[in-house]
Amino acid sequence: MVLPFIHEPFTDFKDETNQKEFEAALKKVKSELGKDYPLVINGEKIYTDDKLVSVNPSNKNQVVGSVSKATTQHVDQAMKAANEALKTWRTWTPEERAEVLYRAAAIVRRRKHEFSAWLVYDAGKPWDQADGDTAEGIDFMEYYAREMVELGKGKEINDRVGENNTYFYQPMGPGVTIPPWNFAFAIVCGTTVAPIVAGNPVLLKPSENTPVIAYKLVEALEEAGLPKGVLSFVPGDPKEIGDYLVDHPQTHFVNFTGSRATGVRIMERAAKVQEGQNFLKRVVAEMGGKDTIIVDNDADLDLAADSIVNSAFGFSGQKCSACSRAIIHKDVYDEVLEKSIELTKALTVGNTSEDNVYMGPVVNQKQLEKIRDYIEVGKDEGVLAYGGETDDSEGYFVHPTIFKDLDPKARIMQEEIFGPVVGFTKAENFDELLDIANNTEYGLTGAVISNNRSHLNRARYEFHVGNLYFNRGCTAAIVGYQPFGGFKMSGTDSKAGGPDYLQHFLEAKTVTEKF
Ligand code: GLU
Repeated sequence: MVLPFIHEPFTDFKDETNQKEFEAALKKVKSELGKDYPLVINGEKIYTDDKLVSVNPSNKNQVVGSVSKATTQHVDQAMKAANEALKTWRTWTPEERAEVLYRAAAIVRRRKHEFSAWLVYDAGKPWDQADGDTAEGIDFMEYYAREMVELGKGKEINDRVGENNTYFYQPMGPGVTIPPWNFAFAIVCGTTVAPIVAGNPVLLKPSENTPVIAYKLVEALEEAGLPKGVLSFVPGDPKEIGDYLVDHPQTHFVNFTGSRATGVRIMERAAKVQEGQNFLKRVVAEMGGKDTIIVDNDADLDLAADSIVNSAFGFSGQKCSACSRAIIHKDVYDEVLEKSIELTKALTVGNTSEDNVYMGPVVNQKQLEKIRDYIEVGKDEGVLAYGGETDDSEGYFVHPTIFKDLDPKARIMQEEIFGPVVGFTKAENFDELLDIANNTEYGLTGAVISNNRSHLNRARYEFHVGNLYFNRGCTAAIVGYQPFGGFKMSGTDSKAGGPDYLQHFLEAKTVTEKF
């Protein structure tokens, strides 16, 4: 019997044994840095001369690995293999497909610290964030496997005398997964295994920033018995193969998580019916956020500061769920700001592959420069209340930064920065708190810190975000507990880790028999 889903527990790094075990995993991974990784097409490992070189964002001279780059010909080969694999993969029962995911989850669980250590090197994640990322990947496999078994039963519909009706789900066909670098295991895993367990072969193009940990997932799935051709690994330059993957006439769906600009581009391109294409493509696009925590006048102010600081600075704000706006009732504004600054002063920043620090680097030079530019914008638009330093001498470090007294329409309050920068704004009353919270183009996460029940009741319906939290921070959704996805320009609200997610990759079929 398959046990009910429970989410993978996080590692307690206060426990010295866990620390030692994690250090050992970092050491093991360090001894394996700098290797070459192939493409995987139809189970075959293909090494190309042209490579994506992944470096440790904490130490940019340290090469994590060199990953082969796929060309458009490789994409064609992978699509051919996917179509071939579909013929048998779709005939596996949901239970049989689920078994592969349970086994892959067990493989990753046994080597959990090792996977997390790869995340530390490939993405610069602090230990606890890397551990959460690996745990979430395991959760996606365990959760979607069970969901598919459930959906495999089809759904009850009505019969009538002399007529029998059945309603069931079937795979759509091969598709493309284009995940981000910020959850370089979890989201890569979730967005890949969901369509796969639903019966669809996938071409996976990981981010250029974090291709090595993505390869580790491919290896685990292969070891778990995924048949060849069901998953092809086609890393590459987005300019060379990105549009090609989306436009391909045999791409049935694109499962994308990343920037707003790319998501919109994918939506537009996928809408065009290509020559030889006899179906409409589906797009799942999970994009940016400009997420707000609002603090009411009747609220636990320590909880407010803690929620703002951890949601803004965890993984250096590089989450689409990160808090980048704190909107505070005027009566408690000074106090919440002061408490937030005090908490921020205690945060440690450093090389995550050497120390168990709170914050590591941002992912690359381009992001560092973008954040640095926004810090200058913030100094013009408001008052720098804390932080503002950057250091790219060894790695890409940005210190936690707080701006105060911003206009709600300021760029710092409207544009996604994807770094450790949070802006504070004051509001007169609860109406205004909600108005400001809703005044961006995005609608991903938000939180309300309040003891006022009628205000919470209003926010439940009037705070327009896909994931709304009361009296806690606005990050760290857990598979099965907080299905995740946003409104407005945050995306298609696919609700990853939730009961409706697999439907994006399935076709429902009705069969009626007349007697
Ligand atoms: N699911 C993550 C969270 O709740 C964010 C995912 C993302 O940044 O793409 O924090």
